[in-house]
Amino acid sequence: MGQIINGKEVAFKLKESIKEFVNERREKNLKIPKIASILVGNDGGSIYYMEAQEKVATSLGVEFLKIKINEDASDEEVIKEIHKLNMDNNIQGIILQLPLPSNFDEKKIIKEISVEKDIDCLTFESQGKLYMGEPNFLPCTPNSVVTLIKSLNVDITGKNVVVLGRSNIVGKPVAQLLLNENATVTICHSKTKNLKEVCKAADILVVAIGKPKFIDESYVNSNAIVIDVGTSRFEGKITGDVDFDKVIDNCSLLTPVPGGVGALTTTLLINNACEALKKHEY
Ligand code: NAP
Repeated sequence: MGQIINGKEVAFKLKESIKEFVNERREKNLKIPKIASILVGNDGGSIYYMEAQEKVATSLGVEFLKIKINEDASDEEVIKEIHKLNMDNNIQGIILQLPLPSNFDEKKIIKEISVEKDIDCLTFESQGKLYMGEPNFLPCTPNSVVTLIKSLNVDITGKNVVVLGRSNIVGKPVAQLLLNENATVTICHSKTKNLKEVCKAADILVVAIGKPKFIDESYVNSNAIVIDVGTSRFEGKITGDVDFDKVIDNCSLLTPVPGGVGALTTTLLINNACEALKKHEY
């Protein structure tokens, strides 16, 4: 039987180190990391993520400023708010909750976030730096995948990694981060031929397709490490792309959903704000 990779345990260790960093600064009367989160409109998912991020940040002593903007505001009003935050020396990280309501020009607005404060790695500039191998911040979900694999003390070098999914926010950056770790990476998508065979050959299989329970035991080999990024609502529950019950007995290690990749992403986001403070004493 395969083992479960515990994202909460890995997050716990990182949380302890963030708390220590913040407490030390507080004792020395130094600046405390502060994140600003912009919510435009009333998207339920965005409100949920913003509140979850606030809860984790404040529990670690990191300040969290919420900025709410009405759905009927203009692009310029959102941009003005971003410019204010870019100039504010007390803010190390800016999060823009996505998606924006459809009346906003998302690309135009994202572009205005200062790359130095883009802890969610949203801007073209941040992404360009990532692909040039000089990232300012690592994007949190892809970084969560790599951090979980590294927590297993697995040498990624030369491993045959298959990433299922090629989105800009998960598949492509995960593949890039794993390439940076010297893995041999194959990216698969909805047009990939012989998907089962390709997946089955993987030492490490990362699945990010948003199709609940899509991957069963026929896609994995018994030595594989399987990382499930999927978070779909299925029969009233948050469910991964991997059919956990079918795969756990037929692989080496597997992340659960929830409690795997997602359990670490917010902590990595907050850690990025701490890294920003270390890099620049704003
Ligand atoms: P997305 O933008 O919808 O991309 C899905 C990708 O999967 C596409 O590249 C698509 O291929 C591919 N795909 C879809 N069906 C496929 C199939 N049957 N066979 C092979 N490939 C298939 O999704 P996303 O934003 O990357 O998110 C993926 C999942 O991760 C979702 O469940 C999302 O909720 C979750 N997620 C989790 C976290 C977290 O922190 N845990 C964060 C972000 C996202 P094509 O390109 O050919 O269409």
